[in-house]
Amino acid sequence: MENILNIRNVSKIYQSAGQGLTVLDNINFSIAPASTVAITGPSGSGKTTLLGLCAGLDRASSGTVELNGIALEKLSEDERAAVRNQYVGFIFQNFQLLPTLTALENVMVPLELRGAKNIKSVAMELLDKVGLADRAQHYPVQLSGGEQQRVSLARAFSNQPAILFADEPTGNLDAETSEKIIRLIFDLNRDAGTTLVIVTHDLELAARTGRTIKIKGGAIFSDENVSYA
Ligand code: ADP
Repeated sequence: MENILNIRNVSKIYQSAGQGLTVLDNINFSIAPASTVAITGPSGSGKTTLLGLCAGLDRASSGTVELNGIALEKLSEDERAAVRNQYVGFIFQNFQLLPTLTALENVMVPLELRGAKNIKSVAMELLDKVGLADRAQHYPVQLSGGEQQRVSLARAFSNQPAILFADEPTGNLDAETSEKIIRLIFDLNRDAGTTLVIVTHDLELAARTGRTIKIKGGAIFSDENVSYA
């Protein structure tokens, strides 16, 4: 089967204060559809940058990122946003909900962008799926961290993404809440075949995926198809 993601000779150089900082240096890997992958490595090694490039949130300085057969570097900002809307779910360590919108409205946003039908009832169903139907009218500040992350999951699921990227999805949550979030994420893989790419410091979580890619100093240090789960 064709890979859902192909990363070829990808480098990222940030420009700051007139100087170039090479954060990713000639990265190569591919990800098979419906697989589960952890990206680990020390702080500052380039994991978040790499995830952003894979998801089309940012553009590589050189090399190619191919998502579902689409070469992202050839696309305009708007075209990349359209590809993200169609294929990609993304969840962040800090949830990144819109503070002026209720839980329900936050989940409705991507549905509106896609011109989906019955937006409100679809968003309610998604909230129900993550166990938050009774929090639909709450604003992010009125929700606990775990609840906010569940809203953010409902939002990420809303376009039934082919691939879900999660950047330290449990980094700010207690152990019990983390486990709930992780189960919801893995359910998506099991039930819908969604490919999972999870950046994490948590080696136990990494061991539950089928493959661990370790990044060090902007390069791939190891890439192992092992699972202890
Ligand atoms: P990790 O997720 O592994 O902690 P990051 O990808 O966040 O690593 O960061 C890698 C390096 O790139 C760090 O040195 C960080 O300071 C730098 N960096 C990240 N984003 C930017 C940016 N927008 N501009 C300049 N430097 C950045």
